[in-house]
Amino acid sequence: MKSRQRVVMLVDCQSFYASVEKAEHPEYKDRPLVVAGDPERRSGVVLAACPLAKAKGVKTEDRLGEAYAKCPELVVIRPRMQRYIDVSMLITDIYKQYTDLVETFSIDEQFLDVTGSMHLHANTPEELAHLIQTHVKAATGVYIRFGIAENKILAKTACDNYAKKNPSGIYTLTKEMLPETLWKLPVSEMYMVGRRMTRHFTVMGLPTIGSIAKTPLAKLKQMMRRKFGKNSDIQAELYWRIANGIDDSPVRPGTHQVAPKSVGHMMTLPRDYGTIEEIKVVLLGIYIKTCVHKGSNLLILWRNNIFQVV
Ligand SMILES: [Mg+2]
Repeated sequence: MKSRQRVVMLVDCQSFYASVEKAEHPEYKDRPLVVAGDPERRSGVVLAACPLAKAKGVKTEDRLGEAYAKCPELVVIRPRMQRYIDVSMLITDIYKQYTDLVETFSIDEQFLDVTGSMHLHANTPEELAHLIQTHVKAATGVYIRFGIAENKILAKTACDNYAKKNPSGIYTLTKEMLPETLWKLPVSEMYMVGRRMTRHFTVMGLPTIGSIAKTPLAKLKQMMRRKFGKNSDIQAELYWRIANGIDDSPVRPGTHQVAPKSVGHMMTLPRDYGTIEEIKVVLLGIYIKTCVHKGSNLLILWRNNIFQVV
């Protein structure tokens, strides 16, 4: 018997910290704004940029000096992490009015499984997404985007690669659409693939997401072993599953943030940082790589805002 197909959503808050600040500072509504560590020092790092600032070329992780060079009229606000956490929880509570299956993925991203509850609120997943989008905007001023699919990895892919570029902020991706959509994209666009892996895959003759998907798993393992040794089988399977949109992991309500076992990253700071607030800001700007065994699935998270393992 075929089980009913799930309806999973990955919901992302646009320019989250910047959106919270803009909602609370109506005087900056039409001005380019960033949230950045230590506006006094031009060496601070941009943690979030509003769409107006992004339109001027300002990017997350720009040094403040660079950001000012691109946009001299920039409004710079110090991060207020506690406030963002509070708003994030408020948004989570709104999601919980639509389904009890809400899983925190990061401070500004949540997974929702609405398979069982959708028809209480709407006729289609897109209609429900639009309803929640309007609700959250009215309650918090934050604009949210939806990737909709039958599982978490496809929902995440739908959001990152398509919903963010879609005027409605809502995009549904089915497995049948993969050959015409995701598979055509360069491997650099694939979830979990950074610059280093993009290079490796290109050298291996796998330039697109589709080329990874269509390589038989055993062959991909073999190719990766040649490059990375025996222990790369799990990684090969992870990439292969992502490329093929395969993921049977459930949306787990109440997933907690757990500190990763180890963090390998170094950064030279312009001075000593003494207070916990300053240190937080530094940590927030650092990319965090971590990997965790989750039953049969290996999930490696690559986040630049909070420590998190699900
Ligand atoms: Mg976001």
